[in-house]
Amino acid sequence: MTTTVTITGTGTPIMHPGVAGPGVLVVSDDVAIQVDVGRGTTMRLSDLGFPLTDLTAVLVTHHHSDHLVGLADLLMSRWLEGGTDPLPVVAPLGEATRIAERVLDLWEGEIEMRRTHTGRRGTASPNVRSFDPQSTPSEVFRVGQVRVLAGAVDHAPVTPAVGYRIETPDGVVAISGDTTICPSLGHLARGADVFVCEAFRREGTTDLLSDPDAIAAYHANSVAVGRLAGEVGVKTLMLTHLIPPIGGSSDKGLFEADVRAGGFSGQVVVADDLAQQIL
Ligand SMILES: [Zn+2]
Ligand SMILES: [Zn+2]
Repeated sequence: MTTTVTITGTGTPIMHPGVAGPGVLVVSDDVAIQVDVGRGTTMRLSDLGFPLTDLTAVLVTHHHSDHLVGLADLLMSRWLEGGTDPLPVVAPLGEATRIAERVLDLWEGEIEMRRTHTGRRGTASPNVRSFDPQSTPSEVFRVGQVRVLAGAVDHAPVTPAVGYRIETPDGVVAISGDTTICPSLGHLARGADVFVCEAFRREGTTDLLSDPDAIAAYHANSVAVGRLAGEVGVKTLMLTHLIPPIGGSSDKGLFEADVRAGGFSGQVVVADDLAQQIL
């Protein structure tokens, strides 16, 4: 058996050429889980040659638009590919659940027109499964030999926000979502074979952001990411949701130097879209 982790997008709400919005695809044999569905996720899955009908579930970390804006596209494209059963979408209670439940409401007429025109059956609508996040990670989804745990992270004022820990027969994949460094992030990432973590560098952000201090206050400082990953025994650290994005005065070496300065000595991947690790 193998488990493959693919970053479907390394971006943020700020547009950057050639970079898709946040997302991670975790595939363990016939189980395929997409975590977050940022802009361009469906295009990236197509780039991979991954059939949307092979998706088992979507997990949502929080309701910021950059993590959810691609959901309608994914659901309708999957339906057009022949995925007629409701796709499970696992989301924390609150706004993320509300958005997932209503995401196709505006498209009802279009979907009905296609149904009538082509005889297409089934539904594009998701099967939304909401949960009340706890600071101690707990199981929120299980299929086959894959178990998914979620833990509340600190992305205040955005609440709830969660990270995920996906356990497969091959190992553990942890995904931070958007968060500062907080105790539950350590619980989620403890001993992970691959830890996909957002990373923020204060330097170089002033040209991009209207209020860099406010952004810094709810994202994961890249030096502190390295410290945490070292403390909890992460093997491979994949940095994503990169602020600032790579290019101009920002380069991958600066992010890597930060996590090394934090004390992390394992493998570091400063991800591009479609960066991949295999367990
Ligand atoms: Zn984000
Ligand atoms: Zn966010």
